Formats: sequence, C-alpha cells, structure tokens
Amino acid sequence: MNKKIAILGAGIAGVSTARLLSGVADTVLFDKARGVGGRMSVRRTEPYCYDHGAQYFTARTVDFQNFIRPAIDSGLIKRWDARHVSFDRDSIVSRRNWLDDEPRYVGVPGMNSLVKHLSEGLTIHTKTKITSLKRQKEFWELLDEQGNIHRGYDWVITTVPSPQAAELLTPFFKHYEDIRSIQMRPCFSLMLGFSEKFPLEFDAAHVANTDVSWIGVNSSKPGRSNLPALVVHSTERYAEEHLESDRDLIMKALCAETSRIIGRDVSGADSKVLHAWHFANNHRHVSSPCFIDQGLKLAACGDWCQGGRVEGAFSSAANLVVKLKESLKEI
Ligand SMILES: Cc1cc2nc3c(=O)[nH]c(=O)nc-3n(C[C@H](O)[C@H](O)[C@H](O)COP(=O)(O)OP(=O)(O)OC[C@H]3O[C@@H](n4cnc5c(N)ncnc54)[C@H](O)[C@@H]3O)c2cc1C
Repeated sequence: MNKKIAILGAGIAGVSTARLLSGVADTVLFDKARGVGGRMSVRRTEPYCYDHGAQYFTARTVDFQNFIRPAIDSGLIKRWDARHVSFDRDSIVSRRNWLDDEPRYVGVPGMNSLVKHLSEGLTIHTKTKITSLKRQKEFWELLDEQGNIHRGYDWVITTVPSPQAAELLTPFFKHYEDIRSIQMRPCFSLMLGFSEKFPLEFDAAHVANTDVSWIGVNSSKPGRSNLPALVVHSTERYAEEHLESDRDLIMKALCAETSRIIGRDVSGADSKVLHAWHFANNHRHVSSPCFIDQGLKLAACGDWCQGGRVEGAFSSAANLVVKLKESLKEI
C-alpha cells in the first residue's frame, strides 16, 4: 500500500511535490488560501486582473523545462517578450527586449494558470490553515484552524514560507534551527488600473535607488485584457520599515514614487489596490536544497531553500522527492 503524505501549501512547491510523487505515494494537500497558487496568485478587482506576486519566471534547468513543457504546449504558459528597461531613480539606464533574451514565462491568462493546471486531479483542501502537527504512534495528525483533525499520515511535508514552517515544525525536527534562522523579507504590491490608454515606453522595469523595485505593465503580458494595468513592487527595505504603517499613506507614497520614476501621474488611476506580502522572498544562500528528517518522517522544501524564485521552488521540491523516494524504498 502507498504511504500517505500530507503536503502543507499548494503553491508551485507543494503541487510539484505532489505531482512528482504521483504513483509512489498518496498525497493530500492543505492550503489556507481560497485557491491554489500561493505567491503565483492573481488578484481580480473587476474589470482589472493583476499578477500581484511573481511577475514572470525563468526555466534554466532541463528538469524544469521538461516539467513545464506540457503547459507550454497547451498554451497555459507563454513567453513574455517585454520591452525591458532599468531605471536608476527616474532615469532609464538600459534597455533590452526580452524577445532577444532567455525566455521569461508567464501563466496565461494569469500567473496562477501553471499551478492550477498542475493541481488537476490532486486532492487539495483549500481554506484549511494547519495550526499544529502531532505525532500519534507511527502516524501524523494535523490540526486545522477550525479544530478539525486530519489523521493517519505517514509523512508530512511543509512547503510554506520558512517562518511559517518554523511555527509548525517541532523543535525535535533535525533541521529545526536551520529553518528557524532563515528569514524572509516582505514586499508591498501596488496594483493600478486605468480605464483609458496609459502608454509607456516599457512593459517591464527594474528600478534601483528608490522605494520602488519593479514596475510591470500587467496588461502587456500575453492573454490579458487590454485595459491598462500596472503592478508596482516596493523594495523589501521599504516594506520592512512600513509593514505596520497606514495602508492609505503607503499607497499614496508608492503612487508618488511611481509617478516620479516614470514621469507620469498615476494618482488618478481608476482602481488602486495594495497588498502586503509578509514573506515575499529570501535571496540568501541556504545550506540545503530541502530538509528531511527520516526518523520523524517530516520534511520541508520551498523557494526559500533555493534562491527565492519560482524555479527554485520547483527545484527544492524535486530535490526533496528524490530523497523521499529513496527513503520510501528503504522501508
Ligand atoms: C511580490 C513578489 C514578486 C515575485 N516575483 C517573482 C518573479 O518575478 N519571478 C520569480 O521566479 N519569483 C518571484 N517571486 C517569488 C515566487 O513567487 C516564489 O518563489 C514562489 O511562488 C514560491 O512558491 P512556494 O510554493 O515555495 O511558496 P508559496 O507560493 O508561498 O506557497 C506556500 C503556500 O502555503 C500556504 N500556507 C502557508 N501557511 C499555511 C498553513 N499554516 N496551512 C496551510 N497552508 C499554508 C500559503 O497559502 C501558500 O499558498 C515573487 C514573490 C513575490 C511575493
């Protein structure tokens, strides 16, 4: 009989883990959010739609290229051949067209398309926040926020951001201290929708030396509505300093900064939404691509183990599955 494995988190790391384990173990995923996708989510504010987390992703390893190939073939992922610029404060210091560069991929019609596609056929409990894990004899029990107990799991794999993983994992977990020491930094995402044309000389911009780090023209991605929509990301430093500040003030400040950078007033946008990502990224080097405790039958993976990007989340999951398959064979 297959082993039963609970996977916490249905972002790209969680669903990749489940996919790669299919046929080898019976997996059940739990996610506290309403849908799958995690930080590859989409925010709808009719009539606008924004990718407010990950903006695009690369596929540099053959494993990831092979993994996403079916989604590319079926049009769920497409290249975003953006006109890219780099700003230093409010000056454009370089221009590139991603058409001539390595592929930058986006989900179509939204960033969550890849994870949605991968989650087809998987058993996923959404709106289920797991609050604690308990070992009962040889099985794990998971307690959720509503007080339900999910019983009978041989293994638990967490794919949630490291600070949230540290809250769930027992200090007896072999790598508990490693995980507890991995910080993740916040980021604000400002979404701006315009009812009239809002022409800009770029589709994607990285920005240096301001409180804004990224300005993306969401509506320039393939398969999106033509209504102009911008996604602006703050720097992680700005988000750390203002995480507890008044949201209206943050929105005004980021609008003013964006207007100054691009030389056009965005304050009159028809739709303005701000989202705070508390655990957006970890760019620091981590000693292991994933963490596994064979004795406790507990494991952790996620983007934070491998560079804080979509492809890193997949690689971390793939690394974990290789190790897990070896230990399942040994039983
Ligand atoms: C603003 C921003 C911009 C980014 N830009 C890019 C980019 O351009 N390119 C790129 O490659 N990457 C980018 N990233 C990073 C990318 O989004 C992540 O690397 C990737 O999505 C992480 O996937 P994951 O599965 O490891 O984690 P997540 O997507 O965070 O998935 C974890 C899941 O766990 C769930 N969860 C948490 N706690 C619990 C709990 N207790 N119980 C149940 N469920 C729980 C969450 O709801 C979430 O769905 C960006 C991230 C942010 C926030």
